[in-house]
Amino acid sequence: MKILFDGVYHNNRRDCYTLHINRAVIYQNNLPLKIPFKHASSGYIDSLEEIYLKLEADDGTVGFGEVRGNCSYFTGDTTEAVIATLKSAILPVLFEIDLTNINQTHDKIENAIVGNMASKAIADIAIYDLISKYYGLPLWNLLGGARKMRLPTEENIPFCSLEETRKNAKALLDDGCRFIKVRVGLKPFQKDVERVKAVYEVVKQLHLESETEIAIDANQSWETKEALVNIKVLQQYGLKIVEQPVPAKHADSLRMLHENLDVKIFADEAVFSVDDLVNLINENAIDGLHIKLIKSGGIYNAVRMMDIAEAHHLSYMVGGMDEGMLAVAAAVQCGAVSRTNLFELNGHCRIKEDPCSGLEVSHSTVMVPTGIGLGIHVNEKQLHEIYKENRN
Ligand SMILES: [Mg+2]
Repeated sequence: MKILFDGVYHNNRRDCYTLHINRAVIYQNNLPLKIPFKHASSGYIDSLEEIYLKLEADDGTVGFGEVRGNCSYFTGDTTEAVIATLKSAILPVLFEIDLTNINQTHDKIENAIVGNMASKAIADIAIYDLISKYYGLPLWNLLGGARKMRLPTEENIPFCSLEETRKNAKALLDDGCRFIKVRVGLKPFQKDVERVKAVYEVVKQLHLESETEIAIDANQSWETKEALVNIKVLQQYGLKIVEQPVPAKHADSLRMLHENLDVKIFADEAVFSVDDLVNLINENAIDGLHIKLIKSGGIYNAVRMMDIAEAHHLSYMVGGMDEGMLAVAAAVQCGAVSRTNLFELNGHCRIKEDPCSGLEVSHSTVMVPTGIGLGIHVNEKQLHEIYKENRN
């Protein structure tokens, strides 16, 4: 009898079937911004406190992860807290893991500590970078294959004067942007109305109404009735998406807005985990959500959330915070394998000097890197090492 398969997988390239981490290094860099920002919940931010994790496997393969630390207004984490959690809870688990088993790796990180999604995200990103480099693949290939290699990214209109709003909107639209998100939620509301109206007027002047998405993000700043009244006012200016208008814990408020308004109500701060998403779906509270790796705990859960959203016919945006290039590149990998067309993948563009390179953004379009792993080059000489640990 001819044997078709003898039950043993023969790896021709390597003589081992397992992969372990031998060394972990944590770096922390403060990256000043070209243009500081301030939205309804962030306060004034003029630099990003980025944390980098380098993992080195026993065969010499290296993977990098990155998250932003100064996001306490959003994640509840601080730079110091993320680093402490990595050192005390995540790294001890990572040193025990066979990285070739992605499911088991994820479960062990998930079970290492409750919450602490930013610390889990940086580890998850570094492992995915490492394991896809080990197999010699771009990460999107390991995730099942890219559905697109060019991702149109949303651009923000910050809190600024009417004149600047018009100028910014025109420049973005002229450059090819077709998804504009206006920051709202700081008093007085009339200023928000004027800015959203100004953006809509520029869109109309350029005859781009049919192809342009106008969104607002209120970052939880309105009470329920206030949100209902405000959104009804803004609806007349071509508004399609409203992101997190009410406090994150108020699922009943989101549902009321979802049921009574024609715009799409998106959750951002209200949906960190897969469980959060399932709860909001069970509550029939949202039309869509903004997926960010710093909330989901990394790529593994972000992809699960994309699948769940699609199965329930929800819209979703793949995006992130203002954060460094490597962190954005990890979200780009998720965007490449997604079925959505809503992306916010320009969070690194305001940084003066990023220690990473390889992610191209042009005319509000992000090119999906084609290199192995995340496809990002990290200039380690520019990173500030703060901790190193070797496997015993
Ligand atoms: Mg948001």
